[in-house]
Amino acid sequence: MKIFFDCDYTILGLDNTLRHGTLDTLDKLKADAHELYLWSGVGERWEVVEKHKLQDYFSGVYRKPTDHFHERLAELGVPFEPEFVIDDYPEIVAAFGGVWVPPYFFQRTVDQEMDRIYRVVCDFAQSGSSEDRQYRAKGTVLPLF
Ligand SMILES: [Mg+2]
Repeated sequence: MKIFFDCDYTILGLDNTLRHGTLDTLDKLKADAHELYLWSGVGERWEVVEKHKLQDYFSGVYRKPTDHFHERLAELGVPFEPEFVIDDYPEIVAAFGGVWVPPYFFQRTVDQEMDRIYRVVCDFAQSGSSEDRQYRAKGTVLPLF
């Protein structure tokens, strides 16, 4: 699958560290023959790829649409539609389908979200869905609060 990871607060903290378990999870997803992409609403984050030596994991780095998600892919030079997205921003997860993760800020915060992401990707790859409460099917309508 073509899996798109958000950058800020999904894999990268405010303190510029990677979320606990990121490299291990990227390794496992690559080993399962998924194609991984990194995108960000503020632009192509090559500096993050270089700083954390992520070149071997990501097949492409893009700017992410922050509204009109499907319509703006072409304008932003994203050559295909993501099949699965991982993001701390719920709207884009609901639009394309994927996993919402709570925002990651600091290295001292150790969470198990990367293990969850891997499990949900495996569920989805196998069955087209997941029972995980942070999974969102493509086209999910979010409740208005
Ligand atoms: Mg984010």
